[in-house]
Amino acid sequence: MEYINKTKCYDAIAFAEKKLRKHASRNIRIILSLSKAYDVTGGYTYLNSKDRYSIYAKIPKGKAIYPLGFNWEIATGKRHIDIAYDKDEAAVWVMAHEVWHVFCELKIWKGNYETKANKKGFDWMRQFKKWRKGRRR
Ligand SMILES: [Zn+2]
Repeated sequence: MEYINKTKCYDAIAFAEKKLRKHASRNIRIILSLSKAYDVTGGYTYLNSKDRYSIYAKIPKGKAIYPLGFNWEIATGKRHIDIAYDKDEAAVWVMAHEVWHVFCELKIWKGNYETKANKKGFDWMRQFKKWRKGRRR
């Protein structure tokens, strides 16, 4: 795993590294950057036969945009609502979502659907909020 952080979201990257520690040897690059858009966007590219992937995660740049509401369908068929209070929380959400897709393509995780990727985003964001609180004590 390689992390390219074009933001100041050091906590978000540290958390992703912690979550993906046992996959550290994988040939996957996560590029986190800021965008002028008002929502989080992401994607990934399969680069070659050596299971090399690039994951792109973009979060809104503006301060005024946060808190940012997330209201998406999750794997249970229900909608889930949660709020990212800053860029780090949004970054964690979108990284988790895209990591889900790539790890499903690699057959590490099962169920390559948007709703499951969304659920991963909400799971990581919830865990991140707790983890970050604990670190600040
Ligand atoms: Zn998706």
